[in-house]
Amino acid sequence: MKSDIEIARTTELRKIKQVAENIGIPREEVENYGRYIAKIPEQLIDEEKVKQSNLILVTAITATKAGIGKTTVSIGLALGLNKIGKKAIVALREPSLGPCFGMKGGAAGGGYAQVLPMEKINLHFTGDFHAITSAHNMISALLDNYLYQNQSNGFGLKEILWHRVLDVNDRSLRNVVTGLGAKTDGITMQSGFDITPASEIMAILCLASDVEDLRRRIENILLGFTYDGKPFTVKDLGVAGAITVLLKDAIHPNLVQTTENTAAFVHGGPFANIAHGCNSVLATKMAMTFGDYVVTEAGFGADLGAEKFYNIKCRKSGIQPRLTVIVTTAQGLKMHGGVSLDRIKEPNMEGLKEGFHNLDKHVRNLRSFGQTIVVAFNKFASDTEEEIELLRKHCEQLGVGFAINNAFSKGGEGAVDLANLVVETIEKQPSTPLKFTYEVGDSVEKKIEKIATGIYGASVVTYSIAARKKIKLIQDMGIAHYPVCIAKTQYSFSADPKIYGAVNNFEFQIKDIVINNGAEMIVAIAGEIMRMPGLPKDPQAKNIDIVNGEIEGLS
Ligand code: ADP
Ligand code: MG
Repeated sequence: MKSDIEIARTTELRKIKQVAENIGIPREEVENYGRYIAKIPEQLIDEEKVKQSNLILVTAITATKAGIGKTTVSIGLALGLNKIGKKAIVALREPSLGPCFGMKGGAAGGGYAQVLPMEKINLHFTGDFHAITSAHNMISALLDNYLYQNQSNGFGLKEILWHRVLDVNDRSLRNVVTGLGAKTDGITMQSGFDITPASEIMAILCLASDVEDLRRRIENILLGFTYDGKPFTVKDLGVAGAITVLLKDAIHPNLVQTTENTAAFVHGGPFANIAHGCNSVLATKMAMTFGDYVVTEAGFGADLGAEKFYNIKCRKSGIQPRLTVIVTTAQGLKMHGGVSLDRIKEPNMEGLKEGFHNLDKHVRNLRSFGQTIVVAFNKFASDTEEEIELLRKHCEQLGVGFAINNAFSKGGEGAVDLANLVVETIEKQPSTPLKFTYEVGDSVEKKIEKIATGIYGASVVTYSIAARKKIKLIQDMGIAHYPVCIAKTQYSFSADPKIYGAVNNFEFQIKDIVINNGAEMIVAIAGEIMRMPGLPKDPQAKNIDIVNGEIEGLS
């Protein structure tokens, strides 16, 4: 089979205006970024049409290092739906350069289920990540300058909460000292970099309902505390307007096309382990305005992405999925069943069976939200019929639909069964209105406890002194009604990345709490979770090259 980039290069693309017109977007509304990429103004969103559209969430069993294939299956399902005559659009996150050049590779799907032009989407795309990075760091510079310029008036901050960001995996920047040098080179302080998908600006852009809401949220960003304990925000700096200007274009959803020339919105990209893990509300609503079926993905396993999708994104925007698809792979299940990583490609019925515990726990969790579930088996070349049959029977016993997705090898044709099952299930047995895990009125501790015990399976939640102090502060600030976004490893239900399967009865430790006052959520950090990832010994960057003007090795 051809490589992802070879398939991408040999697929004939349609002009993006034509792709837009095919789903009913007037040509004059299309703002071209080259021939094959466009931005579509969010004013075209029609809330009545949003209500009619069938939203499908794609989530997965607990992640493996290589990914389970949610993006590939999401695109594949949209292709399959279009193949059976439905008007389907996929809404995805924008890839980050960190994983693209690091361990995991790009995030534009794979094989014959990709969004294109994948090399542009994976690299600089429409510059949204650059805009977010610039907006974030502009606030850092303006804040540092404010402190520098006003030091003779005695103005200072007791605590600065605002870091810098960069869309690169660079462990050396996790902790830095700024302002070294002469007196005019700024005030010497400790700072640090997070990766751009962890930026609060990213979360804000993905949750904002329009430009005014974006501006309001930027004003509310908490930067630190004054010596008398008062919150200091972007509003106090007086620069919310300037920062909003930097994001004026980035807020418009990006339109691209799939390997079968159907429409795809790719916009916003917070990670699900350190942030809320969903593409922008605006892109999802835009897709729902123009598509009868909209397939969207939430990051990593269902404990992270799906939980945040329902409890944060859906709660805030009012959208409701009619169905949730959980992606499984035989290799992923075997890994959760205790098979060592170097042997998961070999047939192993016992290991597979043992791995069902991970799937079962996710299915139970998803049902607790009132969702109807379909299991999509993402087929790899090494999978055997016997293994697939075992999983099919298991799903029958669980009472959930099951279909193979083979879009990676066959494009839309390989996802026709899944598409038919999805349509039929939505018609016969759509999900009931969302039941959230917690209420906004619950205390911060109660919210965390309900997620940790109800979804992860923890027996007890413990807090560091720093976390307890922040909770008190949150109460004093009157913002305890915000939803909670838990930052934890994607590799386990627990906060320990080495415990696979379906771990239960563990202690769940909250180390710290970050107040995202602009994004209006409380980020609770559990375990050793890096807001700035590092690079592995053999990064993907070693495979990427340019030969005769063509990019190679991007996947
Ligand atoms: P996720 O969204 O769950 O992180 P992706 O869809 O990005 O996963 O897939 C992760 C990687 O696995 C990608 O490089 C993709 O091309 C590859 N992949 C996905 N599905 C298959 C498959 N069925 N066969 C082979 N490779 C696949
Ligand atoms: Mg993905």
